[in-house]
Amino acid sequence: MKSIIGIIGGGFSGCILAHHLLEKTEDLQVVIFNKSSRIGPGLAYEPQSSAMLLNVKAGKMSAFPSIPTDFVDWLMEQNQFPLKTKSEISNSFVSRELYGQYLETSWKNTHQKYADRISIIVEEVLDVSKPDKEFIIQTENNTLHAQYCVLATGNELPRNPTISNNSFYQSPNYFQNPWSIDCELIDNQKPILIIGTGLTMVDTVHYLREKNKNGTIYCISPHGFKILPQGEAEDTYDNILHKIKIEDRLDSLLAEFNLAKKEITKKNGSLESLINYFRPYTGKLWQGFTTEEKSFFLRHLRHKWGVARHRIPPISYEQIKQELAEKKLIILAGKIKDFEEKTAEINVNYWSQLTHTVESMKVSCVINCTGPEADVSKLPQGLLAKLYKNQLIVPDELLVGIQVSVRDFRIKNSHHTEHFYALGNLLRGELWESTAINELREQAIQLSLQIEHAEKTKKNC
Ligand SMILES: Cc1cc2nc3c(=O)[nH]c(=O)nc-3n(C[C@H](O)[C@H](O)[C@H](O)COP(=O)(O)OP(=O)(O)OC[C@H]3O[C@@H](n4cnc5c(N)ncnc54)[C@H](O)[C@@H]3O)c2cc1C
Repeated sequence: MKSIIGIIGGGFSGCILAHHLLEKTEDLQVVIFNKSSRIGPGLAYEPQSSAMLLNVKAGKMSAFPSIPTDFVDWLMEQNQFPLKTKSEISNSFVSRELYGQYLETSWKNTHQKYADRISIIVEEVLDVSKPDKEFIIQTENNTLHAQYCVLATGNELPRNPTISNNSFYQSPNYFQNPWSIDCELIDNQKPILIIGTGLTMVDTVHYLREKNKNGTIYCISPHGFKILPQGEAEDTYDNILHKIKIEDRLDSLLAEFNLAKKEITKKNGSLESLINYFRPYTGKLWQGFTTEEKSFFLRHLRHKWGVARHRIPPISYEQIKQELAEKKLIILAGKIKDFEEKTAEINVNYWSQLTHTVESMKVSCVINCTGPEADVSKLPQGLLAKLYKNQLIVPDELLVGIQVSVRDFRIKNSHHTEHFYALGNLLRGELWESTAINELREQAIQLSLQIEHAEKTKKNC
């Protein structure tokens, strides 16, 4: 009997995994479930604005590590950049929309080649169970029985900040989903509050301006604004980096990091090359850290790492700098206490890190850009909330993902559910860095090898 795999999520992770599985196995049937009919781009690469850019240069965004120029070659074929050379395109930051089109095209090619082995179900998966030997994957209108099941569900909505008046979150002037803002509901001139000062905030500011929202934009986060541009690494500092010993323990590693940082700073250099140097080791190092070390990192170093690691394209950085200089964009360090909505006005009370008192401001709407909810125990609804309730997924000890064996991507739970896998964001607790394309494309290959192996073992039994 042919095996069936149900892949929940038709974004980058789900599609690229399906591609490798179809290439590697002979008769495995692949069923992809996705909430929307567009397969490939997922949340990140179906942006609200065509002006939103990738945060990584095109040359590093191939979906397939074995064909490093795949994305750039595709871009060259599109005649989007008629006067640019391959090397110039490779070094540029192109739009996320274009990247989404590339993923969609790439998926269509896979679909065409293996049409008889692929089914797409455009519906939300509501539940997964494994009462016996097979998974039962349930949507409103479909039930699939499968031998394998993969969670490739990507990014959840941000968590609502804790306030005393939760009814505010029902207001049409509150946008919990920063990736799908109905700008028709927002006044063109009145002030806006964005909660969060990271990459999503930057995207949202650009988008609001594009839609002629000209009022002052306030942004608030505990640390205020510290976003850096990509491409600062004018020198690779090889002579300094080569001296670094990749230690296992966090304190020794920090000592090595700080020593190199000191030398680079002395030369007025940027830390980008230092971060880039550490990136390939992060997964291995993270796995070797003790729980105390991981907790210490999350409490004291997470923000610093995030600032140095998550950078934006220089052009986007310049626009934000200009907004700040003209005081059209105002960044506050602090914490939301409460919202009180009166007719056409929201009074925001927040704790200010600057004055150490509770301050107030008036805005017309509030947009939540605090980043996807990572703690599955806090999800109010949806598939992961259900799986958590039924103990099919268990949060990792740091509450930033779920328990997964990184050796073979198997989801760990007390039922020891066989052939149940996860990839992408859900692995953050196990790997820390598990979100960028270069990480996800490797995970998809490794997981496809696991499933290929499981299939071969099954056939030989
Ligand atoms: C705004 C943004 C910009 C980014 N920019 C970059 C960048 O420039 N470079 C880089 O390397 N990385 C970037 N990333 C990180 C990364 O590439 C993405 O997060 C990555 O696309 C994740 O892919 P995924 O398939 O795991 O998840 P997603 O793309 O989120 O796809 C998951 C899919 O699963 C579906 N789904 C979820 N639950 C269900 C369910 N119950 N039933 C059916 N379908 C379901 C969703 O609808 C979605 O289509 C960015 C991320 C974001 C959010």
